Amino acid sequence: MRKTLVLSIDSGCWEYIDPLLAAGRMPNVARLIERGARGVLESTMPPITPVAFSSFLTGVNPGKHGIFDWSLRREDGRGGMVNAGALKAPPFWTYLNQHRVRVGLFNVPLTYPPQPIDGFIVPGIPVPRTARRFTYPPEALDRIEERFGPYRVDVPRDLLTEGVDAYVQAWIEYETMQTEAAMALAEAYGVDLLVFNYASLDRVNHFAPGMEHIAQVLVNVDTQIGRWMERFPEANFVLMSDHGSRRIRTAFLLGPWLVQHGYAAYGEHSLDIPPHEANFALARFLREKGMQGRKEKLVRAGLRLLLRGMPAPLRRRFWERAYRSAPEALAYRFTERLDWARTKVFAMSNSGPLLINTGAGDGRGAVGPDEYERIRDALIRDLLSVRDPQGRPVFSRVYRREEIYHGPALADAPDLIADHYESDCDIVVDNKPGLFCFVDRLGRFGDHSRRGILVASGPDFASRPPSDPVYASILDLPATLLHLYGAPLPRDWDGQVLRNLLATPLAEREVVYADTTAPETGTPGEGYSADEEVQVMEHLRDLGYL
Ligand SMILES: [Zn+2]
Repeated sequence: MRKTLVLSIDSGCWEYIDPLLAAGRMPNVARLIERGARGVLESTMPPITPVAFSSFLTGVNPGKHGIFDWSLRREDGRGGMVNAGALKAPPFWTYLNQHRVRVGLFNVPLTYPPQPIDGFIVPGIPVPRTARRFTYPPEALDRIEERFGPYRVDVPRDLLTEGVDAYVQAWIEYETMQTEAAMALAEAYGVDLLVFNYASLDRVNHFAPGMEHIAQVLVNVDTQIGRWMERFPEANFVLMSDHGSRRIRTAFLLGPWLVQHGYAAYGEHSLDIPPHEANFALARFLREKGMQGRKEKLVRAGLRLLLRGMPAPLRRRFWERAYRSAPEALAYRFTERLDWARTKVFAMSNSGPLLINTGAGDGRGAVGPDEYERIRDALIRDLLSVRDPQGRPVFSRVYRREEIYHGPALADAPDLIADHYESDCDIVVDNKPGLFCFVDRLGRFGDHSRRGILVASGPDFASRPPSDPVYASILDLPATLLHLYGAPLPRDWDGQVLRNLLATPLAEREVVYADTTAPETGTPGEGYSADEEVQVMEHLRDLGYL
């Protein structure tokens, strides 16, 4: 069976790569383009890692797979961080496994907790820092660690305190090691299709002020791609990205804007910390009080139990006292300061999804069904009128959820999705009341865009002149991969086979659809424990996503 290597450059975009190609600094990608085709891969809205990779993994739009942001919106009002267990559609590789195609996934986001696969899974973010034996099969981790020492997912952001140079150097070493590890696993498990995600560009784009650091990680990714080409000269190569990148100059503080425009209100001293935030808030509080390790965990577990059984007024008093004794630890999150009874709109991340408070906070819904559409209309109008300091619009579009998603999970979707991804503004929800709405970058220099990259090159792919690029959706990739291996496509998939990328006879072969029900596979393990949830939140906050 022909091998296919799907190499993802997280955040990869032509705006960054083309100048390096022109300067001869990415010769391996240049060779792939020369022999194959290049294109633009349109990401999801919002173009963020969990939504985009969930769509790639399942072949369906978020209205079907149910991942709309880094956090989940649940009917019972509990939030929670996303993980593979929350996906409501089976991943594409289950259909390939059914068709006897063996698949390996390395560092692909949203694959933790891993489920049984014919092949292997070494998950990408988010993986709790203390998770043990987090690969499938668990021995895959042993194979890596025997050779390379302790393996952890992602390069710690703390390294930035030593400077961007040190951070970039750590990423270069890390991805060199990851490539070797993935090569060893691909051989050990005899995989036919490998998906590998290089995450360095995404992180360095967020935190590096200048382009040279970005160039350094891209040049290294090109070197790693060259190693794959050398090792598997007969393979098909697909380069992709889950979304593109852009540079940012200012940050728009959505929190105070919502308050100033009457969509949200801060509580005086109410500190109604919603149940799904309690664990995170306690962890912050106890650490601020100098508690650590096992002791902190025990105290936190005890306090959570106690809080759960407390009547609301008592619980509020507990938080008020905690706040007075450690305000810095608790003044961390916009939702925490909201007065839910007077809040109509809120956000759970910095990605653009906005939620109408229909009772999601703590059951005290401020917006009734009769008011819902009026608020959405007004909010769209108001957001579209926001201008940055140069007088340009911050939001190019604000979508109603039903305009961009369809499927049984639509009811879990955010009510509006604000698209600031064409601007050079970052969105920040977590902030203090009374600040101006525009500030400098707050330590982040880059964010995502919707335009990702696509390159297809190898024996099963056609050669096209670079002047004739292909325009595709990220949903088209899984469809094309199934077609490549002759597996029937589930009829409810939302993407199309990219025939214009394929060589004959594949380009002419009829696309076969089937009313496949989800293949029998093991379910992913449990989601996160309370403590793991804290770790994941902290990791994502470090990256500026929450
Ligand atoms: Zn990403």
